[in-house]
Amino acid sequence: MKFSENSDQAADFLRQAVPTMVKHEIVPNPLNYTLWYSYYSNAFPSLNKELDETIERYGTCPPEVGEALFIQHITQLDKDSEKQLESFHQAFSHIVDDLSVSLDKTAEQTTGYSQALKDNISELGTHELDSAVTPVLDQLSENASAICNANDEFQGQLSAAKMEINTLKAELENSKKEANTDPLTGLSNRRVLDAIYHQFVEENDDSGELAFIIMDIDKFKVFNDTHGHLVGDQILKFVGQLLKKECKSPLVPVRFGGEEFALLCPCYSIAQAQQVAENIRVKLSALPFNNKRTGEKIPPITASFGVSNKRHGDILNNVIERADKALYAAKSAGRNQVMLAE
Ligand code: GH3
Ligand code: MG
Ligand code: MG
Repeated sequence: MKFSENSDQAADFLRQAVPTMVKHEIVPNPLNYTLWYSYYSNAFPSLNKELDETIERYGTCPPEVGEALFIQHITQLDKDSEKQLESFHQAFSHIVDDLSVSLDKTAEQTTGYSQALKDNISELGTHELDSAVTPVLDQLSENASAICNANDEFQGQLSAAKMEINTLKAELENSKKEANTDPLTGLSNRRVLDAIYHQFVEENDDSGELAFIIMDIDKFKVFNDTHGHLVGDQILKFVGQLLKKECKSPLVPVRFGGEEFALLCPCYSIAQAQQVAENIRVKLSALPFNNKRTGEKIPPITASFGVSNKRHGDILNNVIERADKALYAAKSAGRNQVMLAE
């Protein structure tokens, strides 16, 4: 992980990054801030070299150069590894959080100083002054006003940067959510299974009970051919809703792909998972549908289920493979039934 600083260190980097950006008239937006934060945290030494060269050459960091450096050094970071990309996202979120807090503090202090200066200046105007001191005080007052204006401007930039940061944070959260969600059914997707399985194994030292159910709609190709693909989609959505309703925590329902769904059942024995599968099988096979467009009645669909459980040393694929075999057996035995892995 490239950014693992604590809040104090992060605030230190902030205190160095912001003045540098102001000095070189670099807009304090999240992209530039990340560059200069990385610069002071020395996260990417090759980036530092290029930033130094850029400042030397242009006296600032032009937006297009900043963007190119960001893409080259920061977003390309370990791009082949999803896990590392994920930690980058987390680290970035963390930086953005720290920045947000620090900006609030900075803004508060700056407003205080500006106000105090403004008060001093206006108070000066109310006194009779020695003629020798007057020009000096006028000059002082002019300089102080200029500082106040610069402060106000910087304040505006800080608020704009904060708004951008918040938007960026929301976008990051959203993209993370989207990456884990199946758009048709709104259920989680397979990526989530992997994450929860690994977490479970780690937390339970590979010894906790965990079961797995795979569910495949029967003869769905024929269903699509008979009623049309759009009605097929409606059914998949419905199955998603049924699974959400029937599977309360710790059960995790996911769309596994196509007309296949899966349920991860942490802390469940294979017998308990069998009951869960049986309950869903019965409910699904008893529910007729209506074609939303034509009002036509559509008979219930059925699904077949394979259930397995985690054994010592299993990776998730081992558990899935055994459930898959059981599912295949359920299909061969006539469908609309639950089979346990051997
Ligand atoms: P089986 O009982 O052996 O599982 O038969 P099946 O027809 O369900 O299985 P098969 O693998 O032959 O076909 C799967 C079908 O599921 C074909 C495909 O068009 C349909 N399907 C997969 N994904 C979607 C989807 O997102 N929407 C719709 N409407 N159909 C889908
Ligand atoms: Mg299938
Ligand atoms: Mg099928």
